[in-house]
Amino acid sequence: MSAPASLRKGWCPGALVPMSAGDGLLVRIRVSGGRLDLDSVATIADCAARFGNGIIEISSRANLQLRGISETGLSGLQRRLDELGLLDADAAAENVRNIVASPLADIDPSAVLDTAPIVAALEARLGDDPSLHRLPAKFGFLIDGGGVLPLGDIEADIRFEALRSKGGPYFAATLAGAGDVAALCAPREVPDVAAALALAFLRGAGAGEDAPRRMRGLVALRGAASIFRAADLGSSTPPASLRRGAERRDFLGVQTFGASYCVGAAPSFGRMTTGDLRLLAQEARRCAAADVRLTPWRAFIVAGLDRGGAESLGAALGRRGFILDPADPRLAVVACSGAPACANAARAVQAEALELARSVPAARGIALHVSGCEKGCAHSWPAPFTLVARKGGYDLVVNGKASDEPAHKALSVEQIASLLAHEHGGDVSW
Ligand code: SF4
Repeated sequence: MSAPASLRKGWCPGALVPMSAGDGLLVRIRVSGGRLDLDSVATIADCAARFGNGIIEISSRANLQLRGISETGLSGLQRRLDELGLLDADAAAENVRNIVASPLADIDPSAVLDTAPIVAALEARLGDDPSLHRLPAKFGFLIDGGGVLPLGDIEADIRFEALRSKGGPYFAATLAGAGDVAALCAPREVPDVAAALALAFLRGAGAGEDAPRRMRGLVALRGAASIFRAADLGSSTPPASLRRGAERRDFLGVQTFGASYCVGAAPSFGRMTTGDLRLLAQEARRCAAADVRLTPWRAFIVAGLDRGGAESLGAALGRRGFILDPADPRLAVVACSGAPACANAARAVQAEALELARSVPAARGIALHVSGCEKGCAHSWPAPFTLVARKGGYDLVVNGKASDEPAHKALSVEQIASLLAHEHGGDVSW
């Protein structure tokens, strides 16, 4: 039996419309604002084992993915998610509810404002307005509340950054590929401005086969100012403070935000087991945490702790293998699901990436991208070193993307480890 269109490869999956993968169905749970209570975290961990293969991923849009879900288990999983309030009314609404928001804007005293009410209003607008349901599946929005964890390094088609003025907080709306042009609006206007820009995108992109599928493509064709005009919005040069990114040291490990202690912890390559997530929920409860935040840096932040609880939780998560040290070399490596999870993958890249991480020097960003094929899903941008899996080893691309021409072919893991240990991010000269 052939897979229905909704299960075809390349579909942006959800909980109502999962994606068919090499290890079964992949269900992506879009968590509103990235905030989850502890009971929901524990239930999701149980669901991963009961209905799937027990593998859970945190995505770069701060969502949770459950892997290996069986066709027969899907309806049971959807019922449990519905009970937790994590299921959309229909697939069209789910498909467009792609919003990344500041994870700690409610407790970070330096944040401009709490983004949760704005996220809720934008989600309602996206769900209720059928004209927006034609947006491409990966089209996304971002609400940045500022503070210690700004979202400047996170990609989005339409982004809103909170700023302060004497008259109160306001937002600068910018488009992907054009950070130098912005429309300014009040917080309550964000859903209307987002909808106007999204509709301008749909009208401008058109429906042809070559139509841009993302805002960046339309900006390259038409320019940002013309898209703001088409949305009936004035635009100007934004304040210089836009586009700062968060630092790992600001969210990993034990952190304080005002009177509140938090613990930031990242699973290697964003992937964990049911046991890992269950332990996180159990330990968070033991330490009297308030809730868990998902971040687009593929890390959890457990919030609402006191100092003793935060230290105890940090120790427990570290013992379990979560990354709490911002200098951990695993953070400099990114890898896709690989085999057997993805049918396109030539090798089990996650296990080999973990082995190679020992040879990668700690880096501020990504030093090594290990990809199961030339599609490069885990990292669309150039990296100092990109490995593309082949049956007989890895092809190596230097300062490029997985689809670029390799400098070397069919290298073994041992050869690559030796290369990384000696080159430390410099030119590859052999
Ligand atoms: S890059 Fe990885 S996850 Fe993407 S299609 Fe290739 S093997 Fe699959």
